[in-house]
Amino acid sequence: MTCSDWRLHWRVVDFNSRIGKATGTEQVDLVALPGPDGLLRPARAGEWEAAKGQVKLLADAHRAAALAVVAHQRCAGHPVSDGDHNQHVQTVAKNLKESLGFSGPVYALVATYKSDRNWDLAEAGRF
Ligand SMILES: [Zn+2]
Repeated sequence: MTCSDWRLHWRVVDFNSRIGKATGTEQVDLVALPGPDGLLRPARAGEWEAAKGQVKLLADAHRAAALAVVAHQRCAGHPVSDGDHNQHVQTVAKNLKESLGFSGPVYALVATYKSDRNWDLAEAGRF
């Protein structure tokens, strides 16, 4: 589950492969929506339910070995401090694992900003 921000998804960033490397998987389905680490805000309850359904559909169909929630700095969909991104993405990852009853690892990742073309991907937690 990742943000839909174009800066993450153009070819030079190679985001899909990097999520795969960070989670020890090769094929990565994406559920993209603005600010995934903000999904537990009460105003986004409907969006959270929809996103969980999309993740479950793909995880079941493709027998997912791992899940990841990927936040990023300078996010328009969830405009909070870098420290809050680290905390919120962990909370969403933990909640996703519990609510889906997913038995494999669920990663909390944060794309850290260097430039629009250059992002690092760091693990904030694993559940
Ligand atoms: Zn974003």
